[in-house]
Amino acid sequence: MLVFKFGGASVKDAEGIINLIKVVEKYKSEQLLIVVSAMGKTTNALEKLTKAYVDQTDDMQDIYEGIKQYHYDILAGLFDSNDAVFDEVANTFVEIDWMIEDEPHDDFDFIYDQIVSVGELVSTRIIAAYLNKAGLKSQWLDVRGYIHTDNTYREGVVQWDKTRGSITLSLPSQLARSIVVTQGFLGGTSENFTTTLGREGSDYTASIFAACLGAESVTTWKDVPGILNADPKLFADTVKFDELNYTEAIEMTYYGATVIHPKTIKPLQNAKIPLLVKPFNDPAASGTVIKENAANVFSKPVIIIKQNQVLLSISTKDYSFISEDHLSDILGRFAKSRVKVNVMQTSALSFSVCFDYKEEYFNGLLENLNSVYKARYNSGLTLITVRHYTGNAVRDLTEGKTIFLEQSSRNTAQVVLK
Ligand code: ASP
Ligand code: MG
Repeated sequence: MLVFKFGGASVKDAEGIINLIKVVEKYKSEQLLIVVSAMGKTTNALEKLTKAYVDQTDDMQDIYEGIKQYHYDILAGLFDSNDAVFDEVANTFVEIDWMIEDEPHDDFDFIYDQIVSVGELVSTRIIAAYLNKAGLKSQWLDVRGYIHTDNTYREGVVQWDKTRGSITLSLPSQLARSIVVTQGFLGGTSENFTTTLGREGSDYTASIFAACLGAESVTTWKDVPGILNADPKLFADTVKFDELNYTEAIEMTYYGATVIHPKTIKPLQNAKIPLLVKPFNDPAASGTVIKENAANVFSKPVIIIKQNQVLLSISTKDYSFISEDHLSDILGRFAKSRVKVNVMQTSALSFSVCFDYKEEYFNGLLENLNSVYKARYNSGLTLITVRHYTGNAVRDLTEGKTIFLEQSSRNTAQVVLK
């Protein structure tokens, strides 16, 4: 059996969904599990709605209406106006209606997951219905009864044994009967609340199912020809990798390559299941295969750019050296504030840490650190990571820029700059 994952960009409009059907049609003789993300930029819009609700701002209803209208416009491009799918979609949005009727309580991350998850619940309703309309027999599956997580909202930790138990119990027979369409990015807690697995987590969902089911492969259908050495929106002369091994793919995603979610590879590597990254506009193209013993060929360095970085320098209040005890205490504070470190560097009197700026977590972290240390920071920075660098690759990228921090190992160079 095969696992397919379609991201938001591939199902952003009626045309995208019609194209999905064309892709699926080519594989209709296979057993297929299809994992789908929210359509287009829906997750961003739902994040805005969550904030508007929590802050009780005036634009809340407008944002919500915009999200609904976007989906109804797509529906209008695919179905007759009396199709049952209109009710299914309306009933799914009711989950948000219930939530926003009440006063917000204080667990932002919990509220976030209950609202933002509706993007995937709606997109899968639409796609399952359209597959059926196109004669491709499909079953909609609520992933929250299959991927079990703890209650770390916005970053649910998968409970593997329970998840494997649920997936292997009924899915194989369901897959033998029809295509199964389910939500990426979501999980469920033991109290039946919805969790999310972290932004862009649908790839991870596909890999969890594939690992539990022993799938032949996972294919993630993208709006790029495969995995490229750099972002084609930023660089003109990119090259595509035909093959990469699992460890290289893990390293790339760790440094911020956004083609695949960082947690995706490990379950596949453990189960030796290949991951194919293929262009959804050209299903016959080879794309990139991530697998064991791949021929890693790096004709060009891999360039990964992360924007919106903060560089925070921490020193002791009495100017004493930064010791191992300090480092362990400081990193503990980062973990507690749920801030992930991208690069770090120590000197005698200060410890510098570069990470993604996230409004929700930043002030808490800063306050926490300043209660014991002195913390200063620069924001709005860019982190450039270059893997397999040669010659002037790094210098060419940093020329004329103000460099705040620079670090390199044999394989990987990292620069934080403005
Ligand atoms: N819709 C979610 C997001 O945009 C999950 C995903 O796309 O993988 O983050
Ligand atoms: Mg997405």
